[in-house]
Amino acid sequence: MTENPIAPTIPLDADGAHHGFLRLPYSRDDSAWGAVMIPISVIANGPGPTALLSGGNHGDEYEGPIALQELAATLRPDDVTGRVIILPMMNLPAFAAGRRCSPIDGGNMNRSFPGRPDGTVTQKIAHFIASRLVPLADIVLDYHSGGRTLDFLPFAAAHVLEDKAQEATCMAAMRAFNAPYSMKMLEIDNAGMFDTEVESQGKTFVTTELGGAGTATAASVAIARRGARNLLIHAGILSGEPQTAPSVMLDMPDARCFVTAERPGLLEPLVDLGAEVREGQPVGRLWPTDRSGIAALPCHAALDGILTARHVPGLVQMGDCLAVVAQVVK
Ligand code: CA
Repeated sequence: MTENPIAPTIPLDADGAHHGFLRLPYSRDDSAWGAVMIPISVIANGPGPTALLSGGNHGDEYEGPIALQELAATLRPDDVTGRVIILPMMNLPAFAAGRRCSPIDGGNMNRSFPGRPDGTVTQKIAHFIASRLVPLADIVLDYHSGGRTLDFLPFAAAHVLEDKAQEATCMAAMRAFNAPYSMKMLEIDNAGMFDTEVESQGKTFVTTELGGAGTATAASVAIARRGARNLLIHAGILSGEPQTAPSVMLDMPDARCFVTAERPGLLEPLVDLGAEVREGQPVGRLWPTDRSGIAALPCHAALDGILTARHVPGLVQMGDCLAVVAQVVK
């Protein structure tokens, strides 16, 4: 098989704080022998566990990149036992464009794993991370938020896994992150996800959804920052006491959680994030955008729970995820 052309500009296994790039050759009209330069920081200090912390898997989600930029700029080797590998903007071309997917190849990073060494730019990045970085890690935290088209209650998440011992380890790490909500997460389409790749390598994996609507808030960034520190303490990499607060356990048991638009329209939310809803209750309704005098189409919750995500912005396309309802685990 072809070798992956990505070369790190810093050592991945040397003690100290190293800041550089994953250099991916990308020849094109405006840069003949150019490269995509994906920022990476490695802060290491002797033997110990390795954490891989990533943001910008989707380019329009900002809590991860902000928290990880700060961590990379401030974490000192003396603070660390083992190693922290930080990729604040994993899909750099998507991040630079402020888009979910890469403008170069349309690649959705979180549907591109395990990637290809001879594939598109997005596939090459995915392949390098899967084959070179994940094997170094004991624990992986991949930050997500809702991006430009969803807004979430702030939660950390772990998946239901076949390997129950691994599932318990991931759930414990999720609790350690200590977001205001903690989600036992259902994926409707897990093929190609970074999550699935990391879990299949037997690693401890935590992800998040910390807000969205194409921006970050002071509150959501504080959750991201605190969560990374808590997780690194949990992993034995940082010392000190975790900052903890109550976290509501949520569960997405099946596809009834998702409310999908069955026609396009103007979204009128009927409940806001965090509100309790009952099975059959309308969570929003869709008004026509092309004529007046016609009733709105109500969109109903299919189970009891709380409103965990909603669509942004106000105009909805047919098939959009309008809302997510998750059950509160008592
Ligand atoms: Ca995402």
